[in-house]
Amino acid sequence: WDMFVLAFVERLFRPTYKKDDFVLGKKLGEGAFGVVYKVSLAKKSSAKEGDLVLKKATEYGAVEIWMNERVRRACASSCADFVYGFLESSSKKGAEYWLIWRFEGESTLADLMQSKEFPYNVESMILGEVQDLPKGIERENKIIQTILRQLLFALDGLHSTGIVHRDIKPQNIIFSEGSRTFKIIDLGAATDLRVGINYIPKEFLLDPRYAAPEQYIMSTQTPSAPSAPVAAALSPVLWQLNLPDRFDIYSTGLILLQMAFPSFRSDSGLIQFNRQLKRCDYDLVAWRKNAEPRASADLRKGFELLDLDGGIGWELLTSMVRYKARQRTSAKAALAHPYFDKEGLLALSFMQ
Ligand code: ADP
Ligand code: MG
Repeated sequence: WDMFVLAFVERLFRPTYKKDDFVLGKKLGEGAFGVVYKVSLAKKSSAKEGDLVLKKATEYGAVEIWMNERVRRACASSCADFVYGFLESSSKKGAEYWLIWRFEGESTLADLMQSKEFPYNVESMILGEVQDLPKGIERENKIIQTILRQLLFALDGLHSTGIVHRDIKPQNIIFSEGSRTFKIIDLGAATDLRVGINYIPKEFLLDPRYAAPEQYIMSTQTPSAPSAPVAAALSPVLWQLNLPDRFDIYSTGLILLQMAFPSFRSDSGLIQFNRQLKRCDYDLVAWRKNAEPRASADLRKGFELLDLDGGIGWELLTSMVRYKARQRTSAKAALAHPYFDKEGLLALSFMQ
């Protein structure tokens, strides 16, 4: 009950807002379930908040507010800084949920990956300086490693809290200029299995470009949500049985793939890769055997990068992109993978 008091006190001292407090700025995004704007506060008299982000959401906004509240208490650094969420019922379109975050920065990983300069355009953003290495795959690999480590760290925070994101993709990864790290956004499709919130999979929400081959995250043997107390007692067990977090790991593996292979960064490139992989029954090793002999220079560059240091990058990729969820690594285990071994990196830079 201490937790309740804390939550209440925190709530009391956090700023609360209403509709008229915001001046709408640029539209940042528009999906089937809401519109996102950059906003500023109408009255700047109070403590300086800086720029904010507002999402006007449909009925799913309620779940998204709940998820953001939970993230802020359990693993705040994983996601964009959530300020406040409320039901706005005076809108002409009927009731909407309004969600407010701090504006973390101008670019998502998708924006950054679209640049011809990627990953060099990210280098000084995350490493603070430009590395003393010539341009080449080793330098690119180090930048990609850092991005992936930050992403897995954020994901491990969510998963340890019991939240599966279900929509991990470069568009939902924002670069936080304040903390110089990548953070996860858009908990609109997330599910919290430990409390049974949004337990029934809404597969229509999933982005087919990044979704793992399993249609449902929980096995079809558990199709409906048990009551909250039952779910709370059961869900650690269900979690172990079904490993729902591995859905996000598959998507994260596809992001590593896109970072390594420039040709898969575009939508059409990724769709083409997905088609090829499906034809190989989701066996990445079989896909490589097939693709490598007739690979373009672009494709060869990706293999070369993943093959550095005895192929540890390729090893990590194949442990994430697997057909069977239970054969995929977890976020925590991936962080301990030798791909991220600092000693290995040091050894590498001494050899230069
Ligand atoms: P949806 O995908 O449902 O439209 P998102 O939550 O993904 O909504 O937000 C849409 C876009 O708004 C993101 O891709 C990003 O460009 C921008 N955005 C969202 N949250 C933030 C934030 N906290 N700081 C900066 N930009 C953000
Ligand atoms: Mg989004």
